[in-house]
Amino acid sequence: MPSLQSSGCLYVVATPIGNLEDLTIRAARILGEVDLIAAEDTRVSRKLLNHIGIATPLVSHYKGQEARQSAGLVKKLLQGQTIALISDAGTPAISDPGSRLVHDCHEANIKVIPIPGPSALTSLTSVAGLPEGGFIFLGFLPSKKGQRRKLLTRYSQEELPLIFYESPHRIIASLKDVESILGNRPACLGRELTKLHEEILAMPVGEARAFLQNRATIKGEFVVAIHGCETEEISSEEDVEQLLIMLHAQGNLSMKDAVKKLSRDLGLSRSEVYKIGLQVWKKDE
Ligand code: SAM
Repeated sequence: MPSLQSSGCLYVVATPIGNLEDLTIRAARILGEVDLIAAEDTRVSRKLLNHIGIATPLVSHYKGQEARQSAGLVKKLLQGQTIALISDAGTPAISDPGSRLVHDCHEANIKVIPIPGPSALTSLTSVAGLPEGGFIFLGFLPSKKGQRRKLLTRYSQEELPLIFYESPHRIIASLKDVESILGNRPACLGRELTKLHEEILAMPVGEARAFLQNRATIKGEFVVAIHGCETEEISSEEDVEQLLIMLHAQGNLSMKDAVKKLSRDLGLSRSEVYKIGLQVWKKDE
């Protein structure tokens, strides 16, 4: 196994998602210092490098050829070269090429160093006003309607917010599916973030869909955050007792089935709910 000292290192460098001023000072220095830059589209990256006066050689590293190109890059790294990985915009390996190369570097014991900076994901999250806690990032939603609806259904009871990337020509179809499957939840859409026509729409999904649908054309890429499923906090014994009394009064379920249903719906232990159930059903004897 090669030692970390003898091989070069891979820098995973975030680049602007629109506004070139967002390139960090460290990122600019690294891009100027490395032997080679592996870029998703060398024509796009050349513009950025020209803007900051950097002439480091570029090679392509794009989806579909990642495995083959990664092998060549790993070889150079093992020979001691330093390489920066960049994508067309934002942070590599976030819905962009990069993870295969990073994985291969770890396997070959080559040092991998993140150079953090812009990402559409973190940019939108920072202004979305989501409840404190985590979120689930779905990348791009599937382009096929059936698969998209299936994925949304899978997350319909999720309490954490869902965040996804979307293109202008699919945004309306996706928002329609979100509305019909998840409901008209609070949302925040970021369009053209950091660019001249940046737009942030913080409103329920249905309103955002109607607002955009009124336009003759929809331009620019989107990041969408949808608030999580609201579940009422039902955990106290009194709450559980009230629900069991209600189920008992409805008369459709046996005690066993009512206990099974509530413990499953509320994520409580069946024995805890059973104890309360016994009292409720006993009162009626
Ligand atoms: N790796 C990138 C990142 O960290 O942001 C994302 C790359 S992904 C191929 C491109 C998608 O990111 C776009 O289709 C769009 O959904 C989102 N995106 C990128 N730049 C954006 C921007 N300036 N405003 C809004 N969304 C953007």
